[in-house]
Amino acid sequence: MKKLGLNTICTHVGEVKDEQFKGAVSPMYLSSSYEFLDVDVKRYPRYFNTPNQEFLSKKIAALEHAEDAIIFGSGMAAISTMFLAFLQKGDHLVVQNTLYGGTVNFIKEELPKYGIEFTFTNGYKVEDFENAIQSNTKLIHIETPSNPLMTITDIKAIAELGKSRNVHTSIDNTFASPVNQNPLDFGIDMVMHSATKYFGGHSDICAGAVASTSEHIERIWNVGKNLGGSLSDMTVWMLERSMKTLGLRVKAQTKNAMKLAKWLNKHPKVSKVYYPGLKSHPEYKLAKSQMKGFGAMLSFELTDDLDSYNFQKHLKLIKSSMSLAGIESTVISPHLTSHALLTQEERDNVGISDQLIRFSVGIESTKDIKEDIEQAIQKVI
Ligand SMILES: *Cc1c(COP(=O)(O)O)cnc(C)c1O
Repeated sequence: MKKLGLNTICTHVGEVKDEQFKGAVSPMYLSSSYEFLDVDVKRYPRYFNTPNQEFLSKKIAALEHAEDAIIFGSGMAAISTMFLAFLQKGDHLVVQNTLYGGTVNFIKEELPKYGIEFTFTNGYKVEDFENAIQSNTKLIHIETPSNPLMTITDIKAIAELGKSRNVHTSIDNTFASPVNQNPLDFGIDMVMHSATKYFGGHSDICAGAVASTSEHIERIWNVGKNLGGSLSDMTVWMLERSMKTLGLRVKAQTKNAMKLAKWLNKHPKVSKVYYPGLKSHPEYKLAKSQMKGFGAMLSFELTDDLDSYNFQKHLKLIKSSMSLAGIESTVISPHLTSHALLTQEERDNVGISDQLIRFSVGIESTKDIKEDIEQAIQKVI
């Protein structure tokens, strides 16, 4: 097929054709039981192959420049199924030290029960990954930009490291989304998403996905049908509808994030801004080489004289909210949420101060977002 543009893929690829009534949108197939005589595909919701699941996975594959994709009931179902498809008893996993909290918990709490070993790297440089590899290492998993400090891992270098050591590689591409980053183009084997975030985009869907070669997706499917983490077709349908505007939304959010990062960076009451699109970011050049846009997630620290908790309470437009990537702007204190279980010393070591605020930038007018931040700052001065 001819290479289609981003918004054409978002709008049209993976539509389920309404042959009966010629409706403009995909019909929703809620059937949990399908014909089994004289059919090539035995369809069943937990086999990830109902019409809506099968077709939406084509959209995700197209967006990630992959042969195939598979949709799950959550980002964690996607990541856990992917890990368990590529790791078995006696194998070893190398993972980046800065990862989504749920992924860290899965690794620490579940993998030992399967006899799977793991090492968290000391940092996010290629050498850190190389040093962690053992003779039984079967998978390297990275996350870039990472949560919450937006560190950047060299995707191409990790892909090459994996290939040279005969180790599979995977990436959590949730923060960038396929609009801003396509890791498979740099040689990574598998890319996963929490579709709860940008794919859904309206803070009302929980889902996940993995995109890769047909061979790898089949391997994941074989484990997935046993673990049973499939997504309901009603949600699959909602996700397809949401993804039609993925390109539009994420581009608007990314543009806003760049403007706000620059503005915050100059603000006298903001001591630090973490955003890969700022030239002051330590991996700005690397980010530029592997990202199409710098994403819509950023973090900043208020100066020490301001109470960051009260600041958030005074925000009127921006919501303080647990999740991220919706069209509405939200903020969160990592030290009270995602990293609350770490000790003060552990948080200091990874650079997560009490003043740090993670900011998921929405599509609102930047003028209004700036005004909201400014008035909240004035209240706590
Ligand atoms: C939210 C998130 C996940 C987990 O996804 P769920 O849909 O909540 O299961 C994984 N990785 C990243 C980076 C996330 O933000």
